[in-house]
Amino acid sequence: MTGIIFDLKRFAVHDGGGLRSTLFLKGCPLHCPWCQNPEGMDPHPALWYSPNDCIRCGTCAAVCPNQALKLKERIHVDRDKCTLCGKCEDACPGSALQRMGGTVTAKEAAELLMRDSVFFGEDGGVTLSGGEVLMQWEFASEVLKLCKEKGADTAIESCLLAPRKAVEAMLPVTDHFLIDIKYLDSDEHKRIVGTDNRQILDNYEFLVRRGADVLVRTPLIPGYTATEKNICSIARYIRGMDADAKYELLNFNPLCRSKYAALERDYPVDGKAFSEEEMERFYKILEEEGIVHIIKE
Ligand code: SF4
Ligand code: SF4
Repeated sequence: MTGIIFDLKRFAVHDGGGLRSTLFLKGCPLHCPWCQNPEGMDPHPALWYSPNDCIRCGTCAAVCPNQALKLKERIHVDRDKCTLCGKCEDACPGSALQRMGGTVTAKEAAELLMRDSVFFGEDGGVTLSGGEVLMQWEFASEVLKLCKEKGADTAIESCLLAPRKAVEAMLPVTDHFLIDIKYLDSDEHKRIVGTDNRQILDNYEFLVRRGADVLVRTPLIPGYTATEKNICSIARYIRGMDADAKYELLNFNPLCRSKYAALERDYPVDGKAFSEEEMERFYKILEEEGIVHIIKE
């Protein structure tokens, strides 16, 4: 059993309880304009270019056997021509080119995750993130099964846009589900991120009925999800499903802008992180909707 991964974060503190190792799986069925990990959206490996590390020497374009690179004021990658042979990556003196994504077996992935297990302590463990973990659910469930056999606490970060059999497969091997609900309004969900949210909410309700440990999270994106109406409706919905629902609002982080530059894509979100006072106003909405367990970053 193999999967495609694109990053490993060690000593992570925001991907579940305690200190964790987080593995990022490639591919996502949604198209959130604000995605923090755009390099993970494509399910396949891709060439990654960092303009800040590039000295504009043109070596990469010269060695590319497929004429996939053009040097103008920066390097432009023709992704239809690139076969990911790696010749440019090897030749680049600035380490500005990198093949993003690689194939590993479930056993190798579990070994990567468990390398720092001595630091996990009582609350820490391993987390699978993405991209969307459930796009590779057979691989993901095998990885977490192997980690659990070694005694690890396990978590996944997911949008739950997946067939029910995928969610069922994760239940026995996942201690914590960190679930993104971005919009409650299904039409808005479809208009902004590309698909309606019926399957997501069905899967969320299934997890709640099965007694899984679920933390709902909403990324607060200026101009998109961060409206009083949206946060209020999600809070009301999850409170209606589960009197003990846990809810976390993730403050906007604009640092991913440079990633969009690397991918030669526009980043449409205009704004900055919310201030403490603004966050408090959002938390007040959750309190008014009866959310008892408000998780603060
Ligand atoms: S990975 Fe290979 S094909 Fe792709 S741009 Fe670099 S040299 Fe060209
Ligand atoms: S080889 Fe590296 S430093 Fe030179 S132009 Fe290409 S990406 Fe930039």
